[in-house]
Amino acid sequence: MSQDTHGPSLQRIATRDAILGEGMRIRRALPNQHKRMIGAWCFLDHAGPADVSTGLGMRVGPHPHIGLQTFTWMIEGEILHQDSLGYEQIIRPGQVNLMTAGRGISHAESSPEPRPPRVHAAQLWIALPDDKRDIAPAFINYPELPSVTRDHWRATVLVGEALGVTAPTQVYTPLVAIDFVATGAADIQLTLRPDFEYGVLVLQDEATIEGETLDENSLLYLGSGRDTLHLQAAKGSQLLLIGGTPFGEDILLWWNFVARRQDEIAAATEDWNHGDRFGQVRGYQGDRLTAPALPEHMKASS
Ligand code: MN
Repeated sequence: MSQDTHGPSLQRIATRDAILGEGMRIRRALPNQHKRMIGAWCFLDHAGPADVSTGLGMRVGPHPHIGLQTFTWMIEGEILHQDSLGYEQIIRPGQVNLMTAGRGISHAESSPEPRPPRVHAAQLWIALPDDKRDIAPAFINYPELPSVTRDHWRATVLVGEALGVTAPTQVYTPLVAIDFVATGAADIQLTLRPDFEYGVLVLQDEATIEGETLDENSLLYLGSGRDTLHLQAAKGSQLLLIGGTPFGEDILLWWNFVARRQDEIAAATEDWNHGDRFGQVRGYQGDRLTAPALPEHMKASS
């Protein structure tokens, strides 16, 4: 699982359908067989836009995390977050929720009642570097992110520094995330950091990136070594640019855990299934998730 990058690239990566919690269909862009990570970004789900006016809406029961941060960018609708630290937070459009799992946290996510009829969000995981992955768990809601408005487009900087503004989001490796909305016929020349690798996911309609036209739910991996990026999009299009310095550490990702060694995954699985380490999520009506059985080769040797 090498994370080496070799300069600029234009690699189209198809997303795949997955089911989140009790029946919400999402598209997963990372990880996939062609690309495991972009910087420390190691998981990328695009949820919706979906009609949640009937049925269960979003419903993901209590489950644990280690070694990562979960990052939610809310575009439309609302999601209720409840965690083992006692935080209960409805995230609304234009907001970011950032949960740092560190050595262990558990949380649940659901559509609040009453709920808006639609949900549209991007949910990503950020791998914590080795010297930070055992830090204390934390949760922060960022009600407002800095945005920049230009002729025919608006950019909201969700993580890192871009376009002269800096996001308040607390991360532990050099990263960036920018949401672009075309308010007209947008034509953007964006300055990039050559030491970062980047990827773009189209969240709505389509966009042309370095001459490559990308459909909704396609990820374009851009590699590293670029100074600028050319984006073109028609009114109403929306896209997410993520980037960071190549992570440089091989991670082990299993279920909701990011670790380095199999015994850490085995221990976390056992702790969760026995009710240890991860605390209690209070207030969620429904069952906690059970960790799936580990494959033979990952079981703790006794
Ligand atoms: Mn989670």
